[in-house]
Amino acid sequence: VTTPIRTSDRSYFKRCRQLWDFTSVLRQNLEPFQRAEALDFGTAIHAALECYYDPEAWPDVDAREKAAIMGFLGAIQKVEKLVVEGPLDFEIDFNEQRMLGLGMLDNYFKWAPAHDNFKPVYVEVEFEVPLYAGSVYQGRIDLIVEDDYGYWIVDHKTTAVFGATEWLVLDDQCASYAWALRRQLGLEVRGVIYNELRKKLAHPPTVLKNGTLSVSKSQETTYELYMATIIELGLNPADYDDVLEYYASDAAQQYFRRTKVIFNKHTLENVEKRILLEAQEMMDNPAIYPTPSRFNCTGCRFFAPCVALQEGADYETILSENYQRRTD
Ligand code: SF4
Repeated sequence: VTTPIRTSDRSYFKRCRQLWDFTSVLRQNLEPFQRAEALDFGTAIHAALECYYDPEAWPDVDAREKAAIMGFLGAIQKVEKLVVEGPLDFEIDFNEQRMLGLGMLDNYFKWAPAHDNFKPVYVEVEFEVPLYAGSVYQGRIDLIVEDDYGYWIVDHKTTAVFGATEWLVLDDQCASYAWALRRQLGLEVRGVIYNELRKKLAHPPTVLKNGTLSVSKSQETTYELYMATIIELGLNPADYDDVLEYYASDAAQQYFRRTKVIFNKHTLENVEKRILLEAQEMMDNPAIYPTPSRFNCTGCRFFAPCVALQEGADYETILSENYQRRTD
C-alpha cells in the first residue's frame, strides 16, 4: 500500500498539525461538503492557461486563445452546474466571474507574447516519487517550459494584489517539484517562473472629446491596451511617448508579473532532506495540536470543528454533518 504525501500535506503539517490531522490522507482525510476550492476562480484561470500553453498548439496563437477561453468558461460552468444540482448553497455571481476572467484573459493574450520567451514542453505534469516506508511524494506542476538556459517550472497564481517576492527563494514547494522532476523524468530544472495574474481588469485609455487620448497616469490601463487604442484610432504613437513609457515601466500598476527564482544543487539537496524528514515525521504518529494565529485561522475551512474540539464540545457531530471523507 502506498501512502501519498501531497504538497498540501507538507504545508498543512508545518502550518497547523490540527488542520493536517483533519485533512491528510494519513489521518482523517476530510473535506467540507461545500467544496469551496471547487469555486476557486483561480482554478478556472488555471484551466484556461493549461490550454493556452498546450505544447501541441503552441505555433497557433489564435487556436490557443480560443481554447483558453473555452477552458475557462468550461471550468466556471462545471461549478455552476454543481451549484444547481448539489448541496452548494452559497451565492456566487457567475456572470461577474465570467466577465472578470474573460477580461483578464483578453489582456493576458495581449501581454504574454512579448514575455513568453520560452516554449512549453509539458503541461499539467503529475509526478509520484517514492519516499519513505511506502510513502510517495505526489504533486502536479502547471507547466514546464524550455528556453536557451534549460528547463523551468512555471507556477501560475491569481492574486488580488502583488505581494513581496523575496521569500520566494525559500519557497520549497516549487523546489520540491524540481527535485521530483529530476528524480522522475531526469529533467534538470533551472528554476521556477512565478506567473502571477492580478484579479483586476485593465481598460483602454480614456478617449477625450477632441479624439485624442488622456495622458493621465492614473488610468487603469496597460502599455498594450494604450498602444492598441492608438493604432485603432489611427493616432501617432510619437505623440504619446511619455505616457507609453510610463505604462511600460514598473511605476505603473501591473496586471501580470513574472518572478524568476533559480535553484542550485544545494537547494535541491536540502529540499530532498526536508521532504524525507517531514514524511518520516508524518508517518510516525506525531502529536496533534492546534497552531492558532490570525494568519492560520482566518478562512480555515475547519474553524468550526476546531473551536468545538478545543472547547470540549461535540466536534464529531459538526464533522459528520458538514464534512466528508475525500474520495480522490
Ligand atoms: S482553525 Fe486555526 S488552529 Fe484550528 S485547525 Fe484551522 S488553522 Fe488550525
